Amino acid sequence: MSEEIQSPFAGKSILLAEDNIDSQDLMRDMLEVMQCHSDIANDGVEAVEKWKKKKYDLIIMDIQMPNMDGHQATIEIRKLEAGKSHVLILAITASVLADDRQKCFEAGMDDYLSKPVTFDIVKKKIHELFLKEGG
Ligand SMILES: [Mg+2]
Repeated sequence: MSEEIQSPFAGKSILLAEDNIDSQDLMRDMLEVMQCHSDIANDGVEAVEKWKKKKYDLIIMDIQMPNMDGHQATIEIRKLEAGKSHVLILAITASVLADDRQKCFEAGMDDYLSKPVTFDIVKKKIHELFLKEGG
């Protein structure tokens, strides 16, 4: 019944950068319930390429990915934005170390979640980020 209610994120376009298929499925299901549109990038290289081609409201960025990790992909995107635009980037990491959290912010991420993530945690965090952005 609650799914009938319009989500505050309805129609948001989200790029999900995640190399693990199970995590992709889980997160995509969550985003679907939130009525968001999601595209998948399987690694950091794909994430940067997809971001170049389409305007996203948010990138959910796994840290540990092959070819280019989430830190490097974020650094690359921020470099290309050159301060003229700013896509929201939410880091997702298996690590709970304070040092890794710090590295996320240094790379230019807006916020950070530790795995395992639940629907309520993801929803709350995305809500906070969109509120901060004013939309
Ligand atoms: Mg990974």
